[in-house]
Amino acid sequence: MVTPAAPVVGDVRAPSLLRGTPVVPGLAYGPVLPVAQEVSAEAVAAYGNGGFADADSAMAAFDRAAEAVAEGFVTKASGATGAATEVLTASAGLTRDKGLRQGVATRVAGGEGLVAAVRGAVAQFVDLFTAMGGLMAERATDLLDIERRLVARLVGEPEPGVARPDEPSVLVAGDLAPADTAGLDPQVILALVTEKGGATSHTAIIARQLGIPCVVGVAGALDLAAGTPVLVDGSAGTVDGTVAASDARAQVEADRAARALADTWIGPAETTDGVRVKLLANVADGESARTASSSPVEGVGLFRTELCFLDRREEPTVDEQAAIYAEVLDAFGGDGRYVVVRTLDAGSDKPIAFATLTDEENPALGVRGLRLSKGNPGLLERQLDGIAAAARSTGAETWVMAPMVATVTEAREFAEQVRARGLKAGVMVEVPSAALLADRLLEVVDFLSIGTNDLTQYTMAADRLASDLAHLTDPWQPAVLQLIATTAAAGRRAGKSVGVCGEAAADPLLAVALIGMGITSLSMASAAVRAVGAQLSSVSMETCERAARAALEAADPMAGRDAVRGVVAAD
Ligand code: PEP
Ligand code: MG
Repeated sequence: MVTPAAPVVGDVRAPSLLRGTPVVPGLAYGPVLPVAQEVSAEAVAAYGNGGFADADSAMAAFDRAAEAVAEGFVTKASGATGAATEVLTASAGLTRDKGLRQGVATRVAGGEGLVAAVRGAVAQFVDLFTAMGGLMAERATDLLDIERRLVARLVGEPEPGVARPDEPSVLVAGDLAPADTAGLDPQVILALVTEKGGATSHTAIIARQLGIPCVVGVAGALDLAAGTPVLVDGSAGTVDGTVAASDARAQVEADRAARALADTWIGPAETTDGVRVKLLANVADGESARTASSSPVEGVGLFRTELCFLDRREEPTVDEQAAIYAEVLDAFGGDGRYVVVRTLDAGSDKPIAFATLTDEENPALGVRGLRLSKGNPGLLERQLDGIAAAARSTGAETWVMAPMVATVTEAREFAEQVRARGLKAGVMVEVPSAALLADRLLEVVDFLSIGTNDLTQYTMAADRLASDLAHLTDPWQPAVLQLIATTAAAGRRAGKSVGVCGEAAADPLLAVALIGMGITSLSMASAAVRAVGAQLSSVSMETCERAARAALEAADPMAGRDAVRGVVAAD
């Protein structure tokens, strides 16, 4: 996955071809702009212990710095949209956190200088978050960003971050915090490249929202000298410093033309020989559903209900839940469209205060998703009542599926509860056992939906948020594709719908192979729909089947991508 660092010739690094995890497709060519992420050591040394008369005046200086940093986040949040607003608002809250202030105050009272106290307190929280794993571990990057900003404010330096470049550039960083990425202008930032971060890191989420080509987990990226021209390929996951400028510019132009064509795609998706494919949207709430509703989709393939409740301490009543779900269903009522509502996937990387168990040794393998209903059956029953009420009040066609299903018994019991409320029942295939039992699951449910994010994590035994394991948490891994193919084949035999709703569905190239395996629907962020639809509409079913075989037979993800690209090009 990762090429060795470029050979050093004299004291000049030879141009190199680096590889990482592709996150947002697209080609970009421009000079490297490294992100300054550290406060200068000289300024910190000159500041010393701050020369405060007592602990109270030191804490007053801390409070002023914290408020200025928090206000900076709030201002950036108000100028941002969607996911960026959420992460920036969360950073403002983290900066004002009482626990963090207490940690600093304790250290200052113990005689530490203010900068050392801030760094010590943040380090303590970083350890804590890292130990909690999952989404909390991702917050460690945000905390370190807050620490750098606080220290910069204290010592009188500008807060570190992305300077506006003089010419359009490729941003290269170790990792990017929300505040770095949120205000990026796609006119001057051509692409994002980071050494760390996986497909679900903040860099990835915000790059996707902005539509900037992005490759993460690129070993050696920080060795690229400022100003070096590189060609970033957000589909192949490469950062190429070896390509000739004229060739690179021609490739970027061809990509731009192809993307412009995709932007005009209005659906529905159909291969050149007439095989229809349903393209659906992944949504999180009423607002994202309304946005998705105007894109060329035939419904919602994944409504992540737990995302409505991340900040709730108490379980919402059935009526409250019904109102929240109705907002999404309303956006997709009629026109033959439908909504697949997923019941709470609480736990692991999505802790929900009123549902998740605390103190689990290993939350990703613990009581998450449907498993929560064993110890707390009322939670699922009330949610199903809320969904059924929303379906009745809106008249929208509503399917319901459960996350983290591992056995046929779990699927049967869930389906009985859903059907008792007059709704169509399905389960997600996220655990390898479910893929292996797909035939038997389809005897008890109406449809399956493959969650490739978790299916990849559990097949490869690799934490989906661990940037060091991004080469394993890649849905192009042949073992993952094998399980998808097994599940799709079971769907064909049963004549039932088998969709994909993980990030894999948003990859236009992989989509071709998935359809060739027999997948009947693809659900993705609505921003990705046109590119996937345009790609599928340009190939025949025979090409899709050839692409499926090529991907399954490939030795590794990179070989799979290359092979499928070749098959598609030959169509
Ligand atoms: C998945 O695991 O692929 C999925 C769609 O669920 P989530 O990403 O919400 O865990
Ligand atoms: Mg999942």
